[in-house]
Amino acid sequence: MWRHSDLSITRAVRHRVKALDPERPPERFFEALRKADERLLALDYDGTLAPFTARREDAALYPGLAPLLAAILQQETRIAFVTGRPAEDLAARIPLKGVEIFGAHGQEHIAPSGRLTRAPLSTSSRLWLDASALRIAAAGFGHALERKYGTVAIHWRGARPDDRVQLEKLARDMAGELPADIQGLAFDGGYEFRVRGRDKGTAIADLIARHPQAIMAYLGDDMTDEDAFIALPCTGLGVLVRDKLRDTHAHLWLRPPKELHTFLRSWMTAVTS
Ligand SMILES: [Mg+2]
Repeated sequence: MWRHSDLSITRAVRHRVKALDPERPPERFFEALRKADERLLALDYDGTLAPFTARREDAALYPGLAPLLAAILQQETRIAFVTGRPAEDLAARIPLKGVEIFGAHGQEHIAPSGRLTRAPLSTSSRLWLDASALRIAAAGFGHALERKYGTVAIHWRGARPDDRVQLEKLARDMAGELPADIQGLAFDGGYEFRVRGRDKGTAIADLIARHPQAIMAYLGDDMTDEDAFIALPCTGLGVLVRDKLRDTHAHLWLRPPKELHTFLRSWMTAVTS
């Protein structure tokens, strides 16, 4: 039976965010969260918790999010970050201890203890990625290149229009001649070449395998987050965080940062009620 505090959660979420899947209303999720013995909040970073910036290194959490996340962590919710950034890069950006991080789209993992592990990378994959990074730099776009474990990315956010045309052409040319072990993926602001086998969906599958009873949500903004939405268990909630709605496998849509705050406060209220 609903209590007053439960109703306020329901109203807050129902009126400020958009339910996309009538089979998975947010009020049912928050009720399950309230009753759960184990809770897991999985989060993308760029575009979800941190607004995009022209320089990737400038991306920082929206104001007010860090204390909210710290409070949620203190309430015995596990927090996991699932990002395209290198895991150690993300670890340096979040002022939280005892969280786990899946970096480079699941190719890297930092356990809550701080231990970093990496998925094996074949010599042929590594050589292809090295050669691709050289090709991008040789084309004069070293500044647009990001080399990560198991990944090479081309970024064009903030690029001049004529540079962007050339960067997109370079990405298309490279995508047209990929070896079988490498996949090409568009993301918001660029294009990425990545070793097959790990993605944000396999990161979620890892979390489910280790915490099968946990009630979990995943918050993300980009096309690469769709793998994570798809991998969620039937009790999970996929939350698309972005200004404009698009086709998605998420169950809920909210606009950052205000509705993101509402969602996280609703999480805290559900756990304390
Ligand atoms: Mg993102």
